[in-house]
Amino acid sequence: MKMERILPFAKSLLKKAVKSGDMVVDATLGNGHDTVFLAELVGEDGQVFGFDVQQEAIDATKERLIGHNLIDRVTFFHEGHEQISAKIPKDVQGKITGAIFNLGYLPGGDKNIVTRAETTISAIEQLLAIMASEGTIVLVIYHGHEQGAVERDQLMKYCQGLDQKTAHVLQYQFINQQNNPPFIIAIEKK
Ligand code: SAM
Repeated sequence: MKMERILPFAKSLLKKAVKSGDMVVDATLGNGHDTVFLAELVGEDGQVFGFDVQQEAIDATKERLIGHNLIDRVTFFHEGHEQISAKIPKDVQGKITGAIFNLGYLPGGDKNIVTRAETTISAIEQLLAIMASEGTIVLVIYHGHEQGAVERDQLMKYCQGLDQKTAHVLQYQFINQQNNPPFIIAIEKK
């Protein structure tokens, strides 16, 4: 058996939660790799709502989607994901089945612009309020940089405190690797 690595496992979790025609959220567009994956997953009748605070990330994601002929499946918000409930249309709320947060900084971009626990947690809370039952949020936590370790600690505390009556929370991590490789926290709304 080959144990699934971190990024493939993140995708497997989303594949289980999301089907063709669904509405999903890419909370950190970055260079658009996850956006392409989600856009393929939801098919031509679904929609991805994508957030990023950097125009550079929006542009890179648009370019990647155009290259895959998937641009029509994505709605872009040049906003922090803490604006999720304000920005996602009301008629979609309650129907979101999947979301991914690939945390940290934009690869190849400004390493000082990073995700932060306070806004990440606010976005998770908002998502939990507007997701469908059994909707799944996948967090890929990069904790090798200074702010990443701070974000990890606060996120772990928050996630461990989530009421088991409202969500299942999973951690998936290789525990013998050096240099703080990323790990996954997944939250399935009950
Ligand atoms: N998912 C991306 C991919 O597949 O290429 C990688 C994402 S990258 C690790 C993290 C991104 O989060 C950066 O582009 C950064 O600008 C963005 N970011 C930072 N704070 C944010 C916030 N509050 N809301 C949304 N995006 C944010």
